Amino acid sequence: MPKQIVTHRDAISYTVGRMTLAGGLTAFVTLLFLLSDLGTDPNALVPVGTVAHSSLLIAVGVSTLVSGALSYRSAILMRQLTLTRAELARISRTDPLTGLLNRRGFDDAAAPLLAQAAAAGQRVVALMCDIDRFKAINDRYGHDTGDRVLSRIGDILRDFAEANDMLIARHGGEEFAGLMIGVSDEEATRCALALCKLCSTEVAGADVAVPVTMSFGLAAHLPGGDLAALMRRADQALYRAKDLGRNCVVQIDRMEAVAAC
Ligand code: GH3
Ligand code: MG
Ligand code: MG
Repeated sequence: MPKQIVTHRDAISYTVGRMTLAGGLTAFVTLLFLLSDLGTDPNALVPVGTVAHSSLLIAVGVSTLVSGALSYRSAILMRQLTLTRAELARISRTDPLTGLLNRRGFDDAAAPLLAQAAAAGQRVVALMCDIDRFKAINDRYGHDTGDRVLSRIGDILRDFAEANDMLIARHGGEEFAGLMIGVSDEEATRCALALCKLCSTEVAGADVAVPVTMSFGLAAHLPGGDLAALMRRADQALYRAKDLGRNCVVQIDRMEAVAAC
């Protein structure tokens, strides 16, 4: 790897260094070649054809070697740049605590899925869920235990989403978002209820088991609406689930608890 190039001055000094190296190499190889091909006597009479032939060979040989080496080096650097960009893009879309997509990652993945499903006439149901009384968990058991709860809930959601072809993400704080494609309202509700039961669990704290529950809101995509509108409606359903006492699932079109978990 080259030394770190940060400023414009670094770039110029690096370029000058490479040019000096290429020039020096060319002069050295040319001298060697001329000495071996034309001899060491500076006053010798040599046919013009021989000089032209030698010069052509040197020019083509050296320029091919130097440009080949520089192109290869540029290609390696471009490859590293592409990999670094991809890694940065992945990091910027991933929540470090749970390893799930973050909100940006969710929006980037969900918008095309929603558009494709709408074009194919498939039903899309969005899910918003939120850990119940999470502030109390932090206050009572400490922030580290709160983080452990988030991480465990992230694992449960990830495993369920992978098994059920669902998009899932940490939407922010202790709130998670999901998207289900090609499911009926009944199937979506069954999934949310199953998740609600799985998330109604205990997470090992420092020396006690921490009881955890979650509330869920569901909303089906309406023709003409966009992702933001869909998630807003799922959020309204989630608020209603909180109002109804938490640890339950609410579908936006049936604003009563579908079922307590
Ligand atoms: P509700 O049942 O109505 O959702 O109540 P709640 O206590 O869960 O909701 P509230 O919005 O009052 O509190 C959310 C808390 O989540 C507050 C915030 O400090 C905490 N929180 C957000 N992100 C993190 C995190 O990454 N780690 C931890 N440990 N706590 C977090
Ligand atoms: Mg909460
Ligand atoms: Mg919340």
